[in-house]
Amino acid sequence: MYVKSVSWVTNNRKGRSNKHTKRFPVVFYLLQDGSFHSKRVSRLEAIYYKTKICKQVKIYCTECQEKFNVLVKKNEQPICPKCLS
Ligand SMILES: [Zn+2]
Repeated sequence: MYVKSVSWVTNNRKGRSNKHTKRFPVVFYLLQDGSFHSKRVSRLEAIYYKTKICKQVKIYCTECQEKFNVLVKKNEQPICPKCLS
């Protein structure tokens, strides 16, 4: 599971002007097969998922001499999906 983003949404389309509008975090994520999903989570889970946000980066592997789009987590080096180096 690759977390794309965590954002706060309201249950009221008119915005935040309403006192009774509740805001809750939603996680957007991709699964291994590439399908996109979103789910409502609790505040604590939102913090947890924020640390797991992945970025899509373009890399060029000198081993395979090919370009790839890979998803990497923060503070992690992108690895080649083909030769895993
Ligand atoms: Zn490679």
